Amino acid sequence: MSTASTPDRTRAVCPLCRKPESADHAPFCSRGCKDRDLLNWLGEGYRVPGLPAEPASGDFEEK
Ligand SMILES: [Zn+2]
Repeated sequence: MSTASTPDRTRAVCPLCRKPESADHAPFCSRGCKDRDLLNWLGEGYRVPGLPAEPASGDFEEK
């Protein structure tokens, strides 16, 4: 058996898990990775800077 030591550049792999990409979910390997990537993007955009960070109401005693 011959093992290629050089990465196969002709074959695209999933950017998330490095599995061979699926034609249905290109450039990802599966629906899961596609969703994960999408969630990452949404997560980045969801952060609204300047939002007041309100501390949860609890016992805040001052001396
Ligand atoms: Zn993947």
